[in-house]
Amino acid sequence: MIATNHVTTGALFAAVTVSVLPWWVILPVAFLLHFVLDSLPHYGDLKHPDKALHRLRWFLPLDATIALIVLAGIFILRPDSWPIIVAAGVLCASPDLWSVTRYIRFVGSGDTSISKDWFSQFHHNIQWGERPWGIWIEGVWLVVTLSVLWQIIS
Ligand SMILES: [Zn+2]
Repeated sequence: MIATNHVTTGALFAAVTVSVLPWWVILPVAFLLHFVLDSLPHYGDLKHPDKALHRLRWFLPLDATIALIVLAGIFILRPDSWPIIVAAGVLCASPDLWSVTRYIRFVGSGDTSISKDWFSQFHHNIQWGERPWGIWIEGVWLVVTLSVLWQIIS
């Protein structure tokens, strides 16, 4: 899923559970939620990895900017336990940082292959449902998670 949806989902999970769960449960669960989200159908293009990686050139800065605006919004609103909510948003998005090496390799040599390490392979294999039409699922997910998060923290 896009980084913004990982951030809104991790932050929403923390905002909902922070009054009943300790931070040391919330943060690892937020991290693991990344893989649950990635295993749902979402935006991507498995059949044309070159196109998908090429598109990241403009899509990634846009996605990262919106994700940072969401985190900045939480910081500005400062709901109770906001550091845990921000940390959960960041942790839920963080596993995708591992894919940066693949992107750098693609930019350098056009190589679209998945990195050989077990984490990259696992991360790739759970994303069976990456399709261009997944952008609609991402859109609905974003509107729902962001509006519920907004209601809780504002
Ligand atoms: Zn991922």
